[in-house]
Amino acid sequence: MNREVIVDKENWKFVDCNLCGSTGFKTIFKDKILCDGKEVIFNTVKCVKCGFIYNNPLNITGIGNSFKKIESITNQAQWRITHKINIYFHALEILSKMYDLKDKNLLDIGCACGSFLDMARLFGFKAKGIELSKQQAAYAVNQLQLDVIEAGTVDPLIKEHRNFFDVITMWDVLEHIPNAKSTLQKISCLLVPGGILMLKIPNSYFQITKAKLARLFFPNLYKVLGAGDHVIHFTEKSIKKMLLDTGFEVKIFENSKRDLAQYSPFSIFQKAYYKMALIVEKLTGMHIGNYYFIVAKKKS
Ligand SMILES: [Zn+2]
Repeated sequence: MNREVIVDKENWKFVDCNLCGSTGFKTIFKDKILCDGKEVIFNTVKCVKCGFIYNNPLNITGIGNSFKKIESITNQAQWRITHKINIYFHALEILSKMYDLKDKNLLDIGCACGSFLDMARLFGFKAKGIELSKQQAAYAVNQLQLDVIEAGTVDPLIKEHRNFFDVITMWDVLEHIPNAKSTLQKISCLLVPGGILMLKIPNSYFQITKAKLARLFFPNLYKVLGAGDHVIHFTEKSIKKMLLDTGFEVKIFENSKRDLAQYSPFSIFQKAYYKMALIVEKLTGMHIGNYYFIVAKKKS
């Protein structure tokens, strides 16, 4: 591949493994994507030392620009709640069994239009959010009267919210952040000792296999892995290792409940696959679903 073309692009850089720091990698998936109207190589690699999977080079701004501007804010808010309500409800149900939720502090990172925060508030949480998109943060504040700040990182909270939050959630967010390890370290600082981190992230084994099959059989419908917005690709082993390294112990690790994509032409297959993944999980403990759902506790 032509390194010069990519490295010269301002935001596309070669990086070291975010999990172990190694510089050695081998390519496992390669394609072209459009970046600012120009074609660049999209290269997913595996660290030769620890097996961590990430894009290299990657867009160091991480979180895709596609999240910054939404065509219809009302549709986006509606989409979130209709697609993800079962995941949100599952998380709040788990938390309500662990705690008396009244007046506990919860932070949702990448909260979009605030639909999860809105539900968390109904369960008794003092809910706060961070959102990169100006439009979505404004919707959460003005339409739902939520406490949401517009920011692309947790840095603005570090000074005044150290050891503050009882629960931090990230739904479909960590895979968009190039330096996920540093972000998890900062999240650990923000949580009280024993505080809970909840994550939903893609299962990269599933996603890479799906991308390869889709490219082969449905080239017209195919979108590059993670639609170009996912910069790192977790496996069960790598996310568990990163959580351990950043001061967490994993309490629940399971196949995530499905996004309720009721309008997808593939929803029947998705539903059948999800049911099969649940059976495999029950019989073998293996997680073959498209996303992982994780509950981790900050070590005291
Ligand atoms: Zn590594």
